[in-house]
Amino acid sequence: MILKALWARLTVALVVPLGLVTLTLTPILASHLEERIDSTRSSAKALLSAEYDLLLQGMNESFNQVLATAEFPLLRQFLARRAPSRTPEWGAVTQRDQAQIESLFTTLLTHYGRYTRLAVIDTQGAEWLASPAAPLPSPPVVSHADSPTFQGAMTLQARDLYISSPRLGASGEEGAGTAVIDIATPVFDISGQRLGVLLFTLDWTRTTASSVHAREGGPGEVLLVDARGNWLFPDTNGQGQRFGRPLEAHWADAWTAMADRNQGTVTLSDHLLVFRSHDIRTQHYRSQAGMILSEAETQPWRLGILMPRPSLWGLLKENPVQLLAIALVYLLSLAFGVFWVLSDHRLRGLRERALLFSREARQYAGEVQDLYEHAPCGYHSLDSDGRVIKINRTELDWLGYRADEVIEKRHYRDFVTPETREAFDAAFQKVLGEGQEGSAECELLCRDGTRLPVAIQATAQVTEEGFQYSRATVFDLSERKALEARLEKQALTDPLTGLGNRRYLEGQAAMEIARAERSGAPLSLIAIDLDHFKRINDTYGHDVGDLVLQHFAKLARQILRDGDVLCRMGGEEFAVLLPDTNREQALQVAERLREAVATSSAKVGQEATEDGTLAYTASLGVTLVSAGEATLKPAIKRADQGLYAAKEAGRNRTHWQSVPSDAGHMSGRAHQVRG
Ligand code: GH3
Ligand code: MG
Ligand code: MG
Repeated sequence: MILKALWARLTVALVVPLGLVTLTLTPILASHLEERIDSTRSSAKALLSAEYDLLLQGMNESFNQVLATAEFPLLRQFLARRAPSRTPEWGAVTQRDQAQIESLFTTLLTHYGRYTRLAVIDTQGAEWLASPAAPLPSPPVVSHADSPTFQGAMTLQARDLYISSPRLGASGEEGAGTAVIDIATPVFDISGQRLGVLLFTLDWTRTTASSVHAREGGPGEVLLVDARGNWLFPDTNGQGQRFGRPLEAHWADAWTAMADRNQGTVTLSDHLLVFRSHDIRTQHYRSQAGMILSEAETQPWRLGILMPRPSLWGLLKENPVQLLAIALVYLLSLAFGVFWVLSDHRLRGLRERALLFSREARQYAGEVQDLYEHAPCGYHSLDSDGRVIKINRTELDWLGYRADEVIEKRHYRDFVTPETREAFDAAFQKVLGEGQEGSAECELLCRDGTRLPVAIQATAQVTEEGFQYSRATVFDLSERKALEARLEKQALTDPLTGLGNRRYLEGQAAMEIARAERSGAPLSLIAIDLDHFKRINDTYGHDVGDLVLQHFAKLARQILRDGDVLCRMGGEEFAVLLPDTNREQALQVAERLREAVATSSAKVGQEATEDGTLAYTASLGVTLVSAGEATLKPAIKRADQGLYAAKEAGRNRTHWQSVPSDAGHMSGRAHQVRG
């Protein structure tokens, strides 16, 4: 997923810089290219103009030479004297003239070098003289009667010209196979009598050579076509001779552009074309010709310069430094894009991780806050005055207050009961002091009036600037206190009967002795032992024995007052401490107890006895706790002695055991009551 996003962004990072750089460079390069195209167009125009001038000049020179030659008197004379058959006298004169004309022709041919043949034709089309000489038999064997050039020239006036289209020299003709143009003019005598025609065959290849040269050395290609679109330059290209062939076959779009226009500048798919037309019949203003006639449908010619259209790539190839700079710009923009994406990707990763981390941290902080608020113990912080600056929900719940009622408003010691406030203050002073910690067991006074025993442990938060605040943990001690109380009670209680045990009696005795001493009230003690209990156990089982013990405990509790302290001393022995009770009263209580036991039966179940009950008796020893006795021990001893005496006397009895030192008041005189 992450990788996919990275790829997508990388693609954007490649496309966007490439697009931006291209957008920036395109107008610059386009204007550069446009400039180049303009300059190419200008040079094409210049070249066209030069080519045109060259062509015109070459043609005009030839025209003038033909016209000048046609007015040569010797030529007129020769033609005027021509005869269908040769007489000897004609022959001599004519041969002389002929030799002179031939010599002139030879001079023209060799001097100018641009003609392949010069011929003199009579009005019938018969060739009378030619240089180089016509092939034998001659003269006059060659007939021009059917030639359009001859026929055309015959229709013209003096100083008019007939120009043929360029053609390939016929076989057998001088310059056969090369391109030639026939230039013909009529010859008249002085009286205006038409004498014949002068025909110059112009070496077209040679005439156009200068232009071909310019063409080959130059940057473009020169086109010359006639009105029908046929190639007029006698040149070749890789595909062979182009002369006479339609331009359309080679440069279709060029011909389409030129066909019906006289001049123009045209941008072709990959070339620039500048062209103009040239009508040989009218555009010979620097020649001395009157009128010029030419072959039908061949005029005007079109001269064009075709130059490769400058391309962007060509432009860049010309200037490797520029190409390198552009490549560098692209490369840098790409590198920047990739760098940007990668660093952005890394940044995003970091941001996501940071977000995750902060979310986790917030969650963790929330959990910590929750733990703080709802911990099973109380937390609070106090300033140096003991004012509450922070307190958790648990402790607020204990106290029964809202946070806004307490924080910054109450001193914590206000919640401590006056009885335990001293311990709290001492501990708080310790926290403020050098030890920086303190603890105390106190009681908190809750809003509903209940008291909550707690243990407070506090430490000081101290910085370089000194004490900042205290932080305390508060433990609820109520359960512990209850447990302690339960254990304490258990330790003093006989589990079988639920009565207090010997330790309980000792504890109670200490208080009662002290109270009796303060008040001077008498304090009595009764020792009780069930009779023949071993026998009950042996006969009915231990469980029945337990039921008897429980029965006795219940019975005795019913008979005794609330203030009397009844306890089980061990086995089947019990004792009762009777505050504010003198000898007579104690004996009465003892007797009442004995009698109740003897007259009631313990419920033991029908599986034990027939009627489900069991009768039993008890013997009792009664004594007074003497005023000088600090503990109960001597009194117990005496009561046991009384008990022993009762057993001795036959059981189911009460025996008074007097205090020896106080024989007068508490005489050892037996006071026995038979059950
Ligand atoms: P006497 O009349 O002389 O007191 O005879 P006695 O059999 O009661 O005396 P003794 O002291 O010989 O026997 C006490 C018996 O009490 C022995 C003991 O097994 C039994 N006993 C002690 N504690 C318990 C108790 O918790 N449950 C039961 N069932 N029996 C107990
Ligand atoms: Mg006993
Ligand atoms: Mg007994």
